[in-house]
Amino acid sequence: MQYYSLTNPLEKTNFATAVVNGIAPDRGLYFPESIPKLPAEFFASMEHMTVHEMATQAMLAYVEGDIPSAVLERIIQNALDFDFPVVPIDENIGSLELFHGPTLAFKDVGARFMAQSLGYFNANSSNQKVTVLVATSGDTGGAVANGFLGVEGIEVVILYPKGKVSKVQELQLTTLGQNITALEIDGVFDDCQDMVKTAFLDKDITSIRKLTSANSINVARWLPQMLYYFIAYRSLAHRKQPLVFSVPSGNFGNICAGMMAQQMGLPIDHFIACTNVNDAVPAYLETGIYKAVTTTPTISNAMDVGDPSNFVRIQKIYGNQFDNLKSHLTGYRFTDSATRSAMKKIYANAGYIADPHGAVGYLGLNHYLDNHPNKYGVFLETAHPVKFLNTVEEILNTKVELPSRIQSLFSKEQKSVSVTNYADLKAYLLA
Ligand SMILES: *Cc1c(COP(=O)(O)O)cnc(C)c1O
Repeated sequence: MQYYSLTNPLEKTNFATAVVNGIAPDRGLYFPESIPKLPAEFFASMEHMTVHEMATQAMLAYVEGDIPSAVLERIIQNALDFDFPVVPIDENIGSLELFHGPTLAFKDVGARFMAQSLGYFNANSSNQKVTVLVATSGDTGGAVANGFLGVEGIEVVILYPKGKVSKVQELQLTTLGQNITALEIDGVFDDCQDMVKTAFLDKDITSIRKLTSANSINVARWLPQMLYYFIAYRSLAHRKQPLVFSVPSGNFGNICAGMMAQQMGLPIDHFIACTNVNDAVPAYLETGIYKAVTTTPTISNAMDVGDPSNFVRIQKIYGNQFDNLKSHLTGYRFTDSATRSAMKKIYANAGYIADPHGAVGYLGLNHYLDNHPNKYGVFLETAHPVKFLNTVEEILNTKVELPSRIQSLFSKEQKSVSVTNYADLKAYLLA
């Protein structure tokens, strides 16, 4: 598969180079030259395949030419070695739990897929060491750190906003050591993202370090997320109801991967994008005018993104046509207070503890299903509630049990480097 830059269709490369570069040299996001259609036999036989067989077939065309299918299958077995259950919440609503991986958020799949792909490309070349430079609003950092820990030839530098990530998130970033360094930035997430973008353009740095990103702009992080939708569809197909997905969204990588699955032929009826008050996309769907917003901190902090990177890919998928996009996507935004009420309601009615992100997805789904009662809706539960322990316990007035692998983090030594401005970051990267 060839990938081209969304800012210049003539700027093309293969999967391996797209992964190593992260972003195209002209700063455009990479997009596959064509979206492969899966044959009817694939859908007819999908319930008889294992998850790994199904996932390998779905992903194969995207890596063809760079990763042989046997290697792809091994990568997928390692990246998807936990369950993705759909837990019934009421008659027409299920929670797709994406948090059973090592860092308890959905980003584990993409981060592990990317780490192994990069490890594979590095093992096959005498390339210089690669530095993965990544900004995190909370969950990316932990997933990337965990996925890349100990991967030969790769150094990981993570920028996180001081005091704006949860305790568990911070522990996951700062306790690993080895090839992982955490930088604590005096600012908000968008400051971290800006510094990363500036570093990518800084010739002093790029002349001595090969930089790549592990945000969902990287195709190896972004595309494997489509597998959640295949897995959920497979477990719900027997219902024979139109299936809609409600996705709590920040950078819009996850929902955009679901849209790719739909384009490949997966029968998804509709998408619902749910945000907190950082609502650039829902506002766009109302007005037809896209405007980045200044980030406001919320209790669903992994979605505190004012200018979602993947929005350009979503527009591309629907031919840059507003009406086409609107016929596939409904947007909602919710305040923290609505999110709190939803968490209480789900707990009271279904005995289910949702995290703040999942609760935002649930809210949008409920609104949508009010007008479409014949459909079955799945909201993506993108993180385990313990990742937001204090928030969840305070809102629900109950104790949430910590899994043992999280408990053990509290006794580990935390290490991070304080960074107040770009000059500090540059000095660190040049040292
Ligand atoms: C990253 C994240 C999101 C947002 O996902 P995007 O792909 O950036 O839209 C939602 N919920 C949780 C828990 C996350 O970690």
